[in-house]
Amino acid sequence: MPPYDDQNIFARILRGEIPCRTVYEDAYALAFHDIHPQAPIHILVIPKGKYISAVDFGQTAPAENIAGFYRAVSQIAQDHGLSENGFRLIANTGQHGGQEVPHYHVHLLGGKKIGAMVSGG
Ligand code: AMP
Repeated sequence: MPPYDDQNIFARILRGEIPCRTVYEDAYALAFHDIHPQAPIHILVIPKGKYISAVDFGQTAPAENIAGFYRAVSQIAQDHGLSENGFRLIANTGQHGGQEVPHYHVHLLGGKKIGAMVSGG
């Protein structure tokens, strides 16, 4: 795995160098609106630690951080009224997964029925 890139855009958001539209923050996670929303509600949730991907997070984060992160995801879904009608949780991972920002994040998409599971070529 390559080393974590401290200049990636989400690292810069965590350091407060770039603004974001924060919807939630605690010791484990920061959540903000995606700058190019793909659904009426499109929130990105990122862990506070330096984790590149889902694999890096799952393999190297302390259990407390993993639990804290997913509790935050769950809380955010509830806070935005998504748990009733449902939503999609996506973690693009690596090149084939289409991951653009090398800081682990999940996309919370909802507010309407989300389309095909996989689109594009
Ligand atoms: P991914 O392809 O899973 O790495 O997704 C990265 C996401 O970050 C994309 O949906 C972008 O629209 C979003 N994004 C990039 N820069 C920003 C930013 N400054 N603030 C909010 N979202 C961003």
